[in-house]
Amino acid sequence: MKHIHIPKILKIDFDKPVLFKQQVAIMFTVLIISCLLFTVVYIQQLISGNIAAATESEMSRSSDASEKNDKPVGTSKPPQTSNGAQQSKPEDESSVTSVQEIDTNALGNMTNVTKSYEDIHYGELILVNKDYSCHLEGENVESIFETKSDSYVVTDKYVSMDPSVLDYVNSMLDDFYANYGETDIMIACGYRSYETQVSLYNNEIDSVGSEDAEKWVARPGYSEHQTGYVFDLDLNIEGGNGIDYSGEGNYAWINENCSDYGIIVRYPAGKESITGYSEEPWHFRYVGIPHSQYITNNGITLEEYLDIIHMHTSDNPMLMEGRNGERWVVYSVQADEVGDTHIPVPENHEYSISGDNCEGFIVTVKL
Ligand SMILES: [Zn+2]
Repeated sequence: MKHIHIPKILKIDFDKPVLFKQQVAIMFTVLIISCLLFTVVYIQQLISGNIAAATESEMSRSSDASEKNDKPVGTSKPPQTSNGAQQSKPEDESSVTSVQEIDTNALGNMTNVTKSYEDIHYGELILVNKDYSCHLEGENVESIFETKSDSYVVTDKYVSMDPSVLDYVNSMLDDFYANYGETDIMIACGYRSYETQVSLYNNEIDSVGSEDAEKWVARPGYSEHQTGYVFDLDLNIEGGNGIDYSGEGNYAWINENCSDYGIIVRYPAGKESITGYSEEPWHFRYVGIPHSQYITNNGITLEEYLDIIHMHTSDNPMLMEGRNGERWVVYSVQADEVGDTHIPVPENHEYSISGDNCEGFIVTVKL
């Protein structure tokens, strides 16, 4: 048999057991180290993978958050209201075209006007609804029978409103007549006293029951008609039933343009849960410019508007710009419930102060 030469390096010499044990030990150690290395690398990959996933998720969360928090200050869109309502008209139709926050320095030198807590109940921006009762008792109203324009009629000589509102109502209905030549517009109701509201309310309960009555008729003391800033339109037509005005056809012009005269449709469709009333296209409320334009252009209610204004104090007032370059600054001042309230106002600009009937005062400055 031919002798096969085995190279020494591969040759396990069974005659030298010590050397064999050393070789096995080395191989075993190398195996253990390899396993350990593999395990370490695997664990590292596992951990880094999890961290990567966590980081991605964290970044995604923080990017969501930044979308919510990094809204640019001075945006031309109004702040989102609590119920998310925001139905802006296109800007070119808007009278208040842009709204932004400005530095209070833009108002120049400031001084103070002092008001008592009782004063929050007066002014064209008072909120009267199911939560806030009216404190006015007709002391500010007059019959409009002699002073109204000829473009419309009134149901009787007792129809009354705050005289500061009448000029706006006259020019709105004069312009409507000039546009369409309709002669049947009638103001059916303006100011309503507490006593009148009591009898209306009781009649409504008799007619539809107490549960439904409040959808249409306010509890005595809680009717906007008691403010003198409100009027209901009707049509003076044969066989009319007293609720013939629907704001449709030619009459839609009034509902669409009233905000240019300081007037809003107070109970619009879709806002029943906020106003507490079913849609009433005939019920108009004077709040003044630019408030009427902001409310109408953004499809919000007086309730929602006051929520927005309450976020703007004299330190971060709101600037409103009209399409013809008019500029107003609006801010609120919380009333002191026990003492006088000192309201900061500009020394060198025209301004007005109205109570809001809930928290304090709203200052409107014409720049
Ligand atoms: Zn009404």
